[in-house]
Amino acid sequence: MAFLRSGSREPEPKGELSSPPGAKKRLFIGLALATSCCFCLLLLLGWVVPMVGFGNIHPVLPYLTGVLLLLAIGIIAVGTIGLVVHVHTGKPFLGSQRFRALSIRFFLPVMELMGRIGGISPEEVRRSFIKVNNEMVQTEPLRYPPQKILILLPHCIQRSTCTVRLSYDVTHCQRCGRCPVGGLLDLRDAYGVHLAVATGGTIARRIVVEKRPAFILAVACERDLSSGIQDTYPLPVFGLLNERPNGPCFDTQVSLPMVEAALRRFIDPAALPAESLGCLRRPGRCPGPHQGK
Ligand code: SF4
Repeated sequence: MAFLRSGSREPEPKGELSSPPGAKKRLFIGLALATSCCFCLLLLLGWVVPMVGFGNIHPVLPYLTGVLLLLAIGIIAVGTIGLVVHVHTGKPFLGSQRFRALSIRFFLPVMELMGRIGGISPEEVRRSFIKVNNEMVQTEPLRYPPQKILILLPHCIQRSTCTVRLSYDVTHCQRCGRCPVGGLLDLRDAYGVHLAVATGGTIARRIVVEKRPAFILAVACERDLSSGIQDTYPLPVFGLLNERPNGPCFDTQVSLPMVEAALRRFIDPAALPAESLGCLRRPGRCPGPHQGK
């Protein structure tokens, strides 16, 4: 039987909502500082080395480029300090929310490279990045109406022996309980959010363009989650790692109480239909499916 319809309840998730197992914030902070120092050094070198040549073109040119490079170094330094303090304390600092783009667009690929040089696996760096991203998304005070929330699932969460085609229409699922999709559909119906299954990055992007969500609750592996967070920026994405008891990309699982806890954290209660408010007060005891999905 599926999760909610069976009336059975898994225990409430323990620990932080934002923590992928084994993720370390310290790793992100260390790599962000190292990456930032490298960029600043490269910028300084980029000024010192051609300074003589610039002076031959015009005597003011070395000073002008120096001011511009110092400005760039200052922006990187302020952005990194704000980011590190925000990550460490959980509170925005020096406009750090604006610098979320810096970490998402700019830092992650370089951090992965630096991690590799230091013998740290890309998975570990990505887990740390997802944890930091989740914490930053959680520090935003915004809550979202259910119709603006999209739960995005990877296709490997569907039972491999299931013959139902979900990528075009998830309602084809029979909710037989052999995989988490049925329980997730129950959550979708109870809270009135959108849910879609993506078979790859291109399909995921198409779904986001079609549904136009304001917030995404994404379930995937480290690689797909971190690239999804990068692709959809500035859209806030809260990432939940899937569980892989059968190896990667095969009959994966997700903790339904964790998905429900994340929904309850980000849904705007004022925008919920009256019958769904009970879900927020008593998780797992939601009313029957909404109509009109
Ligand atoms: S996706 Fe298939 S196996 Fe999974 S709950 Fe639906 S019908 Fe059952």
